[in-house]
Amino acid sequence: MDHISDNNNDPPPDGVPHRLLILDDDALIGETLQHMADFCGLEARFVTAAGEFFALLESWAPHIVAVDLVMPGMDGVEVIRQLGEQRRPVGLIITSGIGERVMDAAERSARAHGLDIVGLLPKPFTATALRQLLDEARQRLPSTPPAFDIAEPAPQPAPAPTVDDLREALARNEISVAYQPKVHCRTGTLVGFEGLARWRHPRYGPVAPDVFVPLAEANGLIDDLTCQVSEQALAWLATLSGADATPCGRHRLAGAQLSLNVSAASLGNQALFAAIADHCRALGIAPQRVVLELTETSAMQDPHRALDNLTHLRLQGFQLSIDDFGTGYSSMVQLVKLPFTEIKVDKSFVMTAAESEESRAVVRSIIELGRSLRLSTTAEGVEDAAALAYLNDLGCDHVQGYGIARPLAADEVVPWFVGREREREARRLAAVHALGQLDTPPEARFDRVTRLARRLFSVATAAISLIDHDRLWFKSRQGPMLDGFAAIPRSAGFCDATIETDGARVVADARTDPGFRDNPLVTGPPFIRFYAGQPVYSAQGDKLGALCLLDTGPQRFSDLDAARLARLAESVTQEFARSGDADADDPAWLLDRDVFQRQAAAAIDLSRTLALDTALVRIHLLDLPRLNQQHGTAAGDALIRDLGVLVNGLASGADVVGRRRGSEIAALFIDPEDLDILALCEALRLAVEGRNAAQADTTPRMVCEITCAHIPATADGTLDQMLRAHPLAPAVIVGA
Ligand code: C2E
Ligand code: CA
Ligand code: CA
Repeated sequence: MDHISDNNNDPPPDGVPHRLLILDDDALIGETLQHMADFCGLEARFVTAAGEFFALLESWAPHIVAVDLVMPGMDGVEVIRQLGEQRRPVGLIITSGIGERVMDAAERSARAHGLDIVGLLPKPFTATALRQLLDEARQRLPSTPPAFDIAEPAPQPAPAPTVDDLREALARNEISVAYQPKVHCRTGTLVGFEGLARWRHPRYGPVAPDVFVPLAEANGLIDDLTCQVSEQALAWLATLSGADATPCGRHRLAGAQLSLNVSAASLGNQALFAAIADHCRALGIAPQRVVLELTETSAMQDPHRALDNLTHLRLQGFQLSIDDFGTGYSSMVQLVKLPFTEIKVDKSFVMTAAESEESRAVVRSIIELGRSLRLSTTAEGVEDAAALAYLNDLGCDHVQGYGIARPLAADEVVPWFVGREREREARRLAAVHALGQLDTPPEARFDRVTRLARRLFSVATAAISLIDHDRLWFKSRQGPMLDGFAAIPRSAGFCDATIETDGARVVADARTDPGFRDNPLVTGPPFIRFYAGQPVYSAQGDKLGALCLLDTGPQRFSDLDAARLARLAESVTQEFARSGDADADDPAWLLDRDVFQRQAAAAIDLSRTLALDTALVRIHLLDLPRLNQQHGTAAGDALIRDLGVLVNGLASGADVVGRRRGSEIAALFIDPEDLDILALCEALRLAVEGRNAAQADTTPRMVCEITCAHIPATADGTLDQMLRAHPLAPAVIVGA
């Protein structure tokens, strides 16, 4: 900024006093500052609102501005950002009672915006501190109005539209709506769009919502605006159902959400919400797809009324979002009191997360708060891949920002979506192929999950599909329905519909479902009638295929079932992320010790979250060390092999079988309710004795200890502790 000469210590040649403009929502503080500045020989004015502040900045051209960082209803950080964007040649004093660390971050961010920082003024401040700052500033900044300092004449401020302009615009339906996409943070799946009001005035050109929304609010036009915006946006949303037949035929926009901004001033207007509900009904839009966004600071102006209306809206099915979270005062109080479903992290924190530890702390704690209150979390202002990755690590649900897409005109949405889906499908296919699993043999680790799924949901068949270019190939299938179907054409597969979303896809009765009743797998073998699927992912979040349940009869599928299916699918995702533990055809083949440990731990963890018990049968080869010594390790190995064959043969229903220790083989069963574990132990005892009897006297005898345990879903501790705490029967020694 060349108008500021750093070494100019002379007093102003013309003796004109410096002008200081103060922005503080607290009038008392503003006034105090003003008096102090007057006393120091400055000309000072104070304002309590950002609108006034920017107006005076234009008309009064101050040399120095003092901005409070935290103000309800507006955001000092945002004001500072705008100052930077407008390239204002002013010295900046940041005032705040928020603590020095946050102020330091704000200072860094202000410098990054190219602003000239005069200094920080932590509240409470002393007259001396202020005087020092102002003296320094006076020395440094020329007192001639900055605009005359630059060679080129300052651009004329854009003439502001008046209330009458806005009234006219509303009467002529000149307000349009732009749609900014919101997507799943981890997977990139489309969630919906936020409708943002746009106004292009025939003379003034585009007018920013930050200008005309407050104008509408202040002049009783806001309900009109909201009504027009929602009417337009809902009608547009309804057209998306017809947009299915895009060049990328499979992709669905039809279920997208629509977020609408609602001013606090409109909260009391029941007629407005009734109109929105009527529009939804008339257009066949479920209220569940509509999210009403309220700014955090505004919702509480009339808490009782707000609570009544918001509760009523929730009961009708509308979702409620708390917008710009983190910028107001009583955030926590509101969240707990009001029936919100979503929390939106304000963009000012997201956009500064890369450079500011404080912003990161705010983002992190808001996401944690949202999670602990079971609200869905959305971060807005996501501008780049780094922000996206950071939010993903934090477990943020949804994201919105220029990095995903700018707000789009209505007719840009479908082309944007089609292009994006095409790219995502190419990436997805690459991920499926990179996995290296297509056309590989079945593996116990996957079969375990499908077997469990079949049992848990009492369905005829469970499978894990991988979705290739034009076919569904099954890595695992259990149950009769897919016998003889190693793969099916992709066009006939149900799983393709599953990977369009991130949640469970349920077809309760395919024969009556318009999307599936003519499907060849419904009208012909295997006569699918019930389907439930949940996507499984690559480590990068690409959808590889689905864990799915099939039945020939209709079924009910509760939310709890969906949650359980999601948990099972997650374990499949985890397995895909690991390198394969290829099974062998060898009847004596057993998992290695560490693989067994890992899989057993995963299985116990899984059963715990599914509230299922587990059982464990252990066979410990006694005196294996002595045997190795006397007969050589080859004899010891042979004995383990023999035992492996016995266990594999008898415990074929186990979920994990392997070597637990050097001399111990164990079999783990998830949900052993229908199994007779004691009978299995007895069968093992007989098998060991039978084997010993059949051997020549010279071969070493198999002497082992058989123990079994039944671990309740609620058990805690290490596996050894749990085994000790929950024995099913006393240990038996056989072969001695
Ligand atoms: P908002 O609800 O917080 O909307 C998000 C704003 O952030 C939008 O600005 C959007 O364009 C902008 N944005 C989105 N992603 C990014 C990003 O990555 N970087 C940056 N720098 N900005 C991003 P917009 O459209 O100018 O709207 C400003 C505000 O005006 C909105 O903030 C909302 O409070 C208000 N508004 C807009 N439309 C309506 C409306 O129909 N009714 C009401 N009551 N208020 C509205
Ligand atoms: Ca919003
Ligand atoms: Ca917002």
